[in-house]
Amino acid sequence: MAAHQEKKLAQERKHKPSQNDPQTSQVQWGRAWEVDWFSLASILLLLLFAPLIVYYFIMSCDQYQCSLTDPLRDLLTGNKHLSDIWSKTPTLTCRAAGIYCLWVAFQVVLYMFIPDFCHKFLPGYVGGVQEGAVTPAGVVNKYEINGLQAWIITHVLWFANAYYFHFFSPTIIFDNWIPLLWCANILGYAVSTFAMIKGYFFPTNAKDCKFTGNFFYDYMMGIEFNPRIGRWFDFKLFFNGRPGIVAWTLINLSYAAKQQELYGQVTNSMILVNVLQGIYVLDFFWNEAWYLKTIDICHDHFGWYLGWGDCVWLPYLYTLQGLYLVYHPVQLGTANAVGVLLLGLIGYYIFRVTNHQKDLFRRTDGNCRIWGKKPEYIECSYKSVDGTKYYSKLMTSGFWGWARHFNYTGDLLGSLAYCLACGFAHILPYFYIIYMTILLTHRCIRDEHRCSSKYGKDWKHYTAAVPYRLIPGVF
Ligand code: NDP
Repeated sequence: MAAHQEKKLAQERKHKPSQNDPQTSQVQWGRAWEVDWFSLASILLLLLFAPLIVYYFIMSCDQYQCSLTDPLRDLLTGNKHLSDIWSKTPTLTCRAAGIYCLWVAFQVVLYMFIPDFCHKFLPGYVGGVQEGAVTPAGVVNKYEINGLQAWIITHVLWFANAYYFHFFSPTIIFDNWIPLLWCANILGYAVSTFAMIKGYFFPTNAKDCKFTGNFFYDYMMGIEFNPRIGRWFDFKLFFNGRPGIVAWTLINLSYAAKQQELYGQVTNSMILVNVLQGIYVLDFFWNEAWYLKTIDICHDHFGWYLGWGDCVWLPYLYTLQGLYLVYHPVQLGTANAVGVLLLGLIGYYIFRVTNHQKDLFRRTDGNCRIWGKKPEYIECSYKSVDGTKYYSKLMTSGFWGWARHFNYTGDLLGSLAYCLACGFAHILPYFYIIYMTILLTHRCIRDEHRCSSKYGKDWKHYTAAVPYRLIPGVF
């Protein structure tokens, strides 16, 4: 009986691939084994310039009212020297170091020591212990999904302090923004360097490590797939979500408090940025279990790209709109405010519904309804390294029939709304949409390259049925 069931299960697995299938994962998994010159050059440029870009943006707000051109003009005309700008830059302070240590320690405590209780009373929310995708070594990691709870506790405490306890000012983040930048950098570099050393000397799973032999590439893109300390402290889940994404909404609240302090009011643009980005952050935590199946967790290794990126790039550059609005408080006319709100909500709706449609389609193996109808799809097959043939389906209904990555399009519309809330006086708040367009277009091409080599001629059938990538009729 047991043998019969096992055989049946094995047959089903062949015909119904899942991300928890080791064979499947081997072919799709991970970053490159060999480094080409273009990748190496891009990585060296990023390692050199990404920290400078963050510094330049934050410094230009601190010293030049968020103008990106004035510092350059000053330097090029000899009006100022680099040393003048540097000498005006706030240094690391004991206060900032204390705040940052407390912040990270608090998030570690929430992550490690408070098991999720939200799934017990929030209908539809998936939390508690969940399984991730299989790693190349065939390991299925367990994760304690408690990000929503961490976010709620942190924000309840933030508001309790702001309105009742007054232990610290809600402008604390803005007031220490540059000293905190040094702390975030120290953590970002420390965790990336630790991950590199750990990958060499005491990896969580030696079979899940990739070495290219190129120091810079390995440092940037990571060696270990899922570095962990103990059974539960997972570097990717912790650093991707907290402290960076939990902080995102707190940083915005601190900017709003600063506006209130400086101008006696919070502008509608600041409220819009807080609300729209708040929805995006809450969506992330509501769907944290789904996030275990995205490219970040299923394919990327943990190196400087994720470690430093989560500690520095994300909290500092994803929040530029709010920072800008502290220096330039924009009050939008009603029509413009409604327009920005609608664009943001439409973007979010497309982003969420598209992701949900694929999730539902894949979870039910096509036995579901998309927009009230049975979904259409293209049958496809691929082979694993040992030659076993697997079958899968690519949906051509719903938003997946409009374009091959309409979830990215929704994300981009939402991102554009945050930027438009800031008006048109400066380019700085538009950095986000420029960056997201490059990131998601590159991601789309990267993903399609992978799907094309995985599905071969079936992918061609799919691209013939759904010819556009992001914008129907255009691209
Ligand atoms: P997707 O969720 O789009 O997943 C792509 C995979 O889905 C493909 O590799 C393929 O996998 C499968 N697939 C592709 N087409 C179809 C189809 N028609 N039917 C069924 N399955 C299909 O990619 P991401 O993980 O990159 O993105 C997840 C979300 O995260 C996106 O909404 C994105 O906007 C967002 N994001 C946000 C970022 C930010 O910084 N704010 C950064 C990155 C992403 P298979 O091999 O299984 O067939």
